[in-house]
Amino acid sequence: MKDTGDSKDQQLTVALRIRPISVAELEEGATLIAHRVDEQVVVLMDPMEDPDDILRANRSREKSYIFDVALDFAATQEVVYRATTKGLIEGVISGYNATVFAYGPTGCGKTYTMLGTDLEPGIYVRTLNDLFRAIEETSDDMEYEVSMSYLEIYNEMIRDLLNPALGYLDLREDSKGIIQVAGITEVSTINAKEVMQLLTKGNKQRTQEPTAANLTSSRSHAVLQVTVRQKSRVRNVLQEIRLGRLFMIDLAGSERASQTQNRGQRMKEGAHINRSLLALGNCINALSDRAGAKYVNYRDSKLTRLLKDSLGGNSRTVMIAHISPASTAFEESRSTLTYADRAK
Ligand code: ADP
Ligand code: MG
Repeated sequence: MKDTGDSKDQQLTVALRIRPISVAELEEGATLIAHRVDEQVVVLMDPMEDPDDILRANRSREKSYIFDVALDFAATQEVVYRATTKGLIEGVISGYNATVFAYGPTGCGKTYTMLGTDLEPGIYVRTLNDLFRAIEETSDDMEYEVSMSYLEIYNEMIRDLLNPALGYLDLREDSKGIIQVAGITEVSTINAKEVMQLLTKGNKQRTQEPTAANLTSSRSHAVLQVTVRQKSRVRNVLQEIRLGRLFMIDLAGSERASQTQNRGQRMKEGAHINRSLLALGNCINALSDRAGAKYVNYRDSKLTRLLKDSLGGNSRTVMIAHISPASTAFEESRSTLTYADRAK
């Protein structure tokens, strides 16, 4: 990540991941049009055949986009984790909050990046592993307690993915002003293998989670919430002194939101558009000061209310935007790249 000395840049990191082209795309006759040029730059080629058509559409054949981190098919899960999330762990243990979210159209690799597979686990498991390890290695007199919850926000309703039978859950502020999901299952310290099993099972409970064979648009956000409580022993009583929170979020597909999305402008909310995704976009825009809009309205959606203390302020935010490299995905890739572009 380039250090520009701008505090806004350190608060928000934007990564772009291009997944490998798929067999289905190759069978459709797709060609490769998105390329990583260097650590920060990605180029997208307009697949339109006729140069006059491109001119008429007021486009250039190639456009480059800048990110804090650019990753392509060659980037392993470990490389993606190190480049985006690993650096947040120390802060979370020290009581700071952070949010990592996977953004992009359905089928472009969000769930692969966050959850991954048994053989290639993603950011969830790698983060929890390192978090447990870091706490074991911390040699101070403090006691740490790690707990996690896994939930879904769908149609502005919250469901516990570890126990869907609980029905819809509410957001509440506790006596310390910390946002809690009332009644949600909290699992404490378990090993990495169990984490993967638990989350894979939880993921199957998601509403409309598309399979590779059936790419219906996914409109649910999956949120893994990890809480680290730091306690010190005072007069034989454990007293909580710090609380650090890390949210890792597999967002709903951006394909619908991007249709109305306009760079540098506050996004307009349509009845059919995912409210949480839009509200998050507006918060991120405000954080990156792209629109000159400093006012962040967290109350606009369930997702942003949940993230209220973990976006902005002392918190760090990492956005990992995802695209397909295929010519058939050009329009979606272009809007995703435009949305996530770090160039000012
Ligand atoms: P999304 O969650 O954004 O809808 P998925 O993560 O389900 O997309 O990815 C769609 C398909 O592409 C899945 O079969 C997934 O395994 C595969 N895939 C995505 N990213 C990668 C990658 N970097 N390497 C290999 N396969 C990938
Ligand atoms: Mg998915």
